[in-house]
Amino acid sequence: MPDDLVRRMRSHQTSIFGEMSAQAIAFEAINLGQGFPDQDGPESIKQAAMRAIADGRGNQYPPAHGLPELRQQVAAHQDRFYGLTPRWRTEICITTGASEAIGATVLALVEPGDEVVMFDPYFDVYAAVTSLAGADRVCVPLTGPGLRPDLTTLAKTITDRTRMLILNSPHNPTGVVFTEAELTEVARLAIKHDVIVLADEAYEHLWFDGHPHVPIATLPQMWDRTITIGSAGKSFSFTGWKVGWATGPADLISAVRVVRQNLSYVSSGPFQWAIAEALQLPDDYYQNFREGLAQQRDQLSSALTKLGFTVLPTQGTYFVTTDVRSLGFTDGNEFCQWSPQNAGVVAIPHAALSDHPAASAPYVRWAFCKQPSQLAEAAERLATGLNRRPTTPLPPFTDRDS
Ligand SMILES: *Cc1c(COP(=O)(O)O)cnc(C)c1O
Repeated sequence: MPDDLVRRMRSHQTSIFGEMSAQAIAFEAINLGQGFPDQDGPESIKQAAMRAIADGRGNQYPPAHGLPELRQQVAAHQDRFYGLTPRWRTEICITTGASEAIGATVLALVEPGDEVVMFDPYFDVYAAVTSLAGADRVCVPLTGPGLRPDLTTLAKTITDRTRMLILNSPHNPTGVVFTEAELTEVARLAIKHDVIVLADEAYEHLWFDGHPHVPIATLPQMWDRTITIGSAGKSFSFTGWKVGWATGPADLISAVRVVRQNLSYVSSGPFQWAIAEALQLPDDYYQNFREGLAQQRDQLSSALTKLGFTVLPTQGTYFVTTDVRSLGFTDGNEFCQWSPQNAGVVAIPHAALSDHPAASAPYVRWAFCKQPSQLAEAAERLATGLNRRPTTPLPPFTDRDS
């Protein structure tokens, strides 16, 4: 442990994604741990980025809060899909991926000692930036067979000490898409206790069959208290470009801008031009994207079911969740430690993204945003590995927080 690291970041030193990706390399395993697609986004958008570089657009510092052309397209996108009409000059901020938007939003709006409420399991960045802000993380579990938000517990957890609620739908890691009824209750509590909502909508276009994404900012009285965050990496399959945005009312966005400009100052000049073009892709781009992903989801879900895992339904995101106890594993940690070496496949235990180990213990997250041949190969390897289990004695589980 580096002794010099500030105390508030000591419990955030290792990333489960980095740890499991290292295992994927060490054991030449198929990495269904980290959520990035193994096929790039549209060729025309790559060409747009290369043209921008060649033409000298964005090779020097772009404007502080994002290229006007990109902010205008983000505004048009929010209107086209959701009927939201953010003003591009004051109500939009371009960021270094959704990650920076999340960090800047928490750091700009949460005081030390405030409470930040989030659903559990959670995207690890929420926990780290809450600690960076000196705030307290309070988790509300997703529960029951479908891992739905526990709204009764939420009602007891949100108090006048709560400054912010972090909402992520479609939800990573569970693949749950919040229903309008669930969002309405979340909104009621946010209004009642005057809480700011950070709506992480990185997977806004990755929802499937009959589970459309509803931005909470579209509900009555919610625009004024919500920062909505988008990710071009996720929406257009360019996770390496790191273009994201935050939209919301001018008073909140102007606060977010102050922090953001002191983190990265500006970001991704030529890629901002390319994403401005991506946001103008026709509706059938999104439709085809969703359909392709839904097929990958179906392929992986049915393969895992055949192998004997209990597979939870996935309504959105890149991820499917399984309960591994049906195969005789004690919990997700045990399975994820066993699998890289013994089956040649990497997955992520929910427990690594949770403050409720008992609730999250059985579950494992698998990324299906991989080519069908990779998914088929992973299924074959798992079948072989499971057939000859146990082979090597399990190494002791290493607690990532120790
Ligand atoms: C990937 C991801 C992000 C980060 O998006 P970037 O644009 O790559 O920074 C944020 N939130 C969730 C839930 C994610 O899965």
